[in-house]
Amino acid sequence: MGKLDGRVILVTGAARGQGEQEARLFRAEGAEVVVADVLDGQGEALAKEIGACYVHLDVGEEADWRSAVTAAKAEYGRIDGLVNNAGILRFNSLVDTPLDEFMNVVRVNQVGVFLGIKAVAPEIGAAGGGTIVNTASYTGLTGMAYVGAYSATKHAIVGLTRVAALELAPKGIRVNAVCPGAVDTPMSNPGAEAEAGAVDALYRRLVPLGRIGRPDEVARLALFLTSEDSSYITGQPFVIDGGWLAGVSAI
Ligand code: NAD
Repeated sequence: MGKLDGRVILVTGAARGQGEQEARLFRAEGAEVVVADVLDGQGEALAKEIGACYVHLDVGEEADWRSAVTAAKAEYGRIDGLVNNAGILRFNSLVDTPLDEFMNVVRVNQVGVFLGIKAVAPEIGAAGGGTIVNTASYTGLTGMAYVGAYSATKHAIVGLTRVAALELAPKGIRVNAVCPGAVDTPMSNPGAEAEAGAVDALYRRLVPLGRIGRPDEVARLALFLTSEDSSYITGQPFVIDGGWLAGVSAI
């Protein structure tokens, strides 16, 4: 018995990183998975490997969401879970951030989650209820210099999560958010191998548990929030950060 037997779950940004681990774990737990991304080559290869279906979905485009829902229903008959995972990060001080850059981060991270809820919640309701997991961030609950646009969108995702939970509870849809700290994916460490030592040293100092997180650890939290294990939980942000947000450590 898997924790998601018989469920149909769409995961955005699932071609790599945390979304990939979520797609793999959900499939292993018995779900039919719709892998959605803009990285078509990687997304198609993953879907083929795990026995899922792939759809091209730019989360900031409403027409793409309509096509993705149509494709998912054609393949599996319904959708009863969504993980809004796709996101982008840009580093800049607020005063140096061009408006185009700010708006692009808003379009993908914030508008993407809004459109996902708007397009998929009616389908989940029609399927008799289900779950939505939105990917916010540690920076959705606190500030961090040089990620102003990103942090603003992640705070907005926590707000959207709370409102969606209230509005969708009568339809049997639970809505929660994951708030990861630093997780070892291409987003947090684009320099990869060459800088791995420096990154390790940084997180040994910054994070109470002494290391960067792994994407499979975030996937397990997303599984908890997507499965019956969290049946009485809705509207909440869940921090997964190795203790980073607990406070300032002087030891
Ligand atoms: P990643 O860059 O490895 O993966 C992001 C995925 O989203 C990629 O596959 C990318 O192609 C996809 N994507 C980007 N723009 C898209 C769009 N317009 N439409 C559809 N897909 C798009 O990064 P990740 O760390 O796996 O990030 C996953 C989520 O976790 C993001 O929302 C990110 O903000 C959040 N997050 C990451 C960290 C971290 O340290 N890695 C920390 C907190 C939150």
